[in-house]
Amino acid sequence: MLSFEQARAKVIEKVGKVRGPRVSTSVNVWDALGMVLAQEVKTDREYPPFDRSTRDGYAVRAVEVAPGTELECVGEIKAGDVVTKALAVGTCVQIMTGAAVPPGADAVVMIEHTQRIGDMVRFERAAREGQNVVRRGTEASAGQTILTPGMRLGFAELALAAQVGAVQLQCAKRPRVAILSTGDEVVAIDQQPGEFQIRNSNSVSLAAQVRIAGGEPVVLGNAADRVEDLGERIERGLKEDALVLSGGVSMGKYDLVENVLKALGAEFHFDAVAMRPGKPAVFAVCQGKPVFGLPGNPVSTMVTFELFVAPAIDLLSGAEARPLPFLEARLGESMNEKPGLAHFLPARIEWRGRTPEVKALKWQGSGDITALGNANCFLLVPADKEKIDAGERVSVLPRKDVV
Ligand code: AMP
Ligand code: MG
Repeated sequence: MLSFEQARAKVIEKVGKVRGPRVSTSVNVWDALGMVLAQEVKTDREYPPFDRSTRDGYAVRAVEVAPGTELECVGEIKAGDVVTKALAVGTCVQIMTGAAVPPGADAVVMIEHTQRIGDMVRFERAAREGQNVVRRGTEASAGQTILTPGMRLGFAELALAAQVGAVQLQCAKRPRVAILSTGDEVVAIDQQPGEFQIRNSNSVSLAAQVRIAGGEPVVLGNAADRVEDLGERIERGLKEDALVLSGGVSMGKYDLVENVLKALGAEFHFDAVAMRPGKPAVFAVCQGKPVFGLPGNPVSTMVTFELFVAPAIDLLSGAEARPLPFLEARLGESMNEKPGLAHFLPARIEWRGRTPEVKALKWQGSGDITALGNANCFLLVPADKEKIDAGERVSVLPRKDVV
């Protein structure tokens, strides 16, 4: 049986091979958050575009300023002012943060280190050439590439694009991810379930996880535990870029997903992972599309999505697979776990000062939806660990949506 790391590496390897070239589309910078860039973005001019003052103070010739020097202040320059006139020898000019340093001046002395006496300015310390000035073109030259294809557009990247006037951006289309739940007991969330039925919460969590991962969910409803119904809906799902199923992959008599996929020509890369929850997780390539059969218990579905489906969506988006963002935390309460499988337990991480502390939550196993409401992370207990003492360092996988 593969470890979760091996299984994840397998997904990354296989999806990397089967993914086709990404189709790109033009997206306005206001709408491009979280998308993956499919073009280069270059600067439209030098940055900064002029010698820029980084402080409020006085622009000077550095050689003229020693402790106790007094210079006549001959004017002021605020941010946005057009500056052409050179600084006359033996003078200074008041200047604001973000304003252009005039020709001839080579330093800005912070206002805090000066004294104003009428038209005169007294300097308390020597000035150094280049002090508090960012020279034109030193951040970026004109035509320099600042964003490259495959980069994910977060707030900083969007600001960079905006700064250079790249208002429309070619982005990879979000991969369309089909979501199909299975199970005779599952009813749509707007229906009243019978006493022995449950609502289809997995399709909702999966759609949210697909969105957070950068994909576009295509929710296909629920398949009954019957070969024909499953087969038809799976074939529908295979029209999208990837298919994620929930339920029907365990050892039960009515767990039919693998059989149906096999009949459709699937090549299986794993059908079990040494982890709990999530042990029966399946990954296959069927008709050229990545297919994930996630176990139906809600916590299993969520954890296996994060481990195996999220990196596939990265790759299908034209990006690299992001690493699992494990954090190190101090265990708050000692715990015992059965060794043999890696455990991902719903847990709560809290920051007291800067050191995070984590506690596993009480739960009734991977079907326990109520335990999840309190969980902001999953606590990893490695396969070989039986007892972990309070205070020990443990790895925690934060929930991307709430931490
Ligand atoms: P399965 O993996 O099909 O054996 O399902 C395992 C457990 O998960 C069962 O208790 C199911 O009732 C539950 N389950 C399956 N599908 C869903 C779903 N779409 N939403 C919520 N719970 C589900
Ligand atoms: Mg089932």
